[in-house]
Amino acid sequence: MSKQDLIDIHSGIERDLGVEKNIYVPYMSDHGHALVGAFRNQGLTATMLPKPDSDCLDYGRRYSEGGECLPFVVTTGQLIKLIEETPDFDPEKSAFFMPTSSGPCRFGQYHTAQKLILSHLDQPVEIISLEAYNSYSAENLGFDFRNLAWQGIVAVDFLQKTLWRTRPYEKETGSADAAYEESLEELKQKMAEKGTSGLIEALEGIGKKFNSIETGPRDRPLIGIVGEIYVRANELCNCNLVSLIEDLGGEVRVGPMAEWLYYTNRKKKQDGFRDRKFLKFLKGWAKDLVQHYGENKVKDKFSDYLDKKDLSDPSVGELADNSHPYIPEDYRGEPVLEIGKAIDYAKKGADGVITVTPFSCMPGSMIIAVSNLVKKDHQNIPWLNLTFDAQQSTNIRTRLEPFIFQARKYREKRSS
Ligand code: SF4
Repeated sequence: MSKQDLIDIHSGIERDLGVEKNIYVPYMSDHGHALVGAFRNQGLTATMLPKPDSDCLDYGRRYSEGGECLPFVVTTGQLIKLIEETPDFDPEKSAFFMPTSSGPCRFGQYHTAQKLILSHLDQPVEIISLEAYNSYSAENLGFDFRNLAWQGIVAVDFLQKTLWRTRPYEKETGSADAAYEESLEELKQKMAEKGTSGLIEALEGIGKKFNSIETGPRDRPLIGIVGEIYVRANELCNCNLVSLIEDLGGEVRVGPMAEWLYYTNRKKKQDGFRDRKFLKFLKGWAKDLVQHYGENKVKDKFSDYLDKKDLSDPSVGELADNSHPYIPEDYRGEPVLEIGKAIDYAKKGADGVITVTPFSCMPGSMIIAVSNLVKKDHQNIPWLNLTFDAQQSTNIRTRLEPFIFQARKYREKRSS
């Protein structure tokens, strides 16, 4: 993306601060609720789009040629569905939030292609975008927005871990999901009303909700999911993988969203150092420091009901070190993090690893390429590579059944 594009995008946000526009946040995962809370706290109008469904896939496919990534099809489908199915939709008063990234993948082209589609449809909807290798700076929205959005995202990461830790063992079906949904809504509302103090207030109540859920013995194999960030987080794209594994008798953890954001800080620091742009380096360093401080504040609120492993994710430096024998850090993008995270799961006692990637994903192909080697070097931990193309294929369950069996055996062997 050119510098001029960035300036346009930032001034777009500035315009939104002055003009009554509704910022539509497409649903990738529940972290979007935190963004909506942070936008509203700034006095902006923001709406979270509903979870994508098969209609979004149909709309998205209509405007793609078959070679695009699955997340592009889904996000474009959400945008077109919004335009076509919202009564009295006013493009002049609407903006679509679409982050971007440079690096060795197609993500940087999403917002450009979506702008072309919108212009073809004669729909002047503004696309608001933030750039990954500028560590999603959103400078025009100010520190309060950035800090609140960050803490909200981290809070959703921990809230999800709480759900995944509780749900497989609940005695009353649905009680963990109910506590989770209620907590998420409260988090968004209190963030919007009171900012970071509201966020902390909302987190105080979460412990009570989850602690009151009656659970059975913790006896399931633990499965770590890694892979392309959108597909691993989005239930439509990954065919509801977490619930499927839980149905088959496993307990799941999915890599946190915060990891990618810390990675963008790391790249900003490294680029600044390499190019002797010390202000850039310092900005990355300061941002990292502030984000760690914010994360600790949020984490503290979960310390009564998450264990040490769930509370302490490895730093991105540790992940890069883990992954170094297989993928050098000079390769920019997710494979470094995902292979590093898979190794971290193996080291910390997970009983199986699943990688999820969209069909024809470029970084995903690299993850799959080294996976056999990583598995062999880590006690042959049960490992399954799953590729998704949104065909809702039925063979995923068939592949998961023997995998969970292997993970259970692996767990028994380790504990004996
Ligand atoms: S990571 Fe893969 S799926 Fe995601 S945008 Fe890049 S190439 Fe596409």
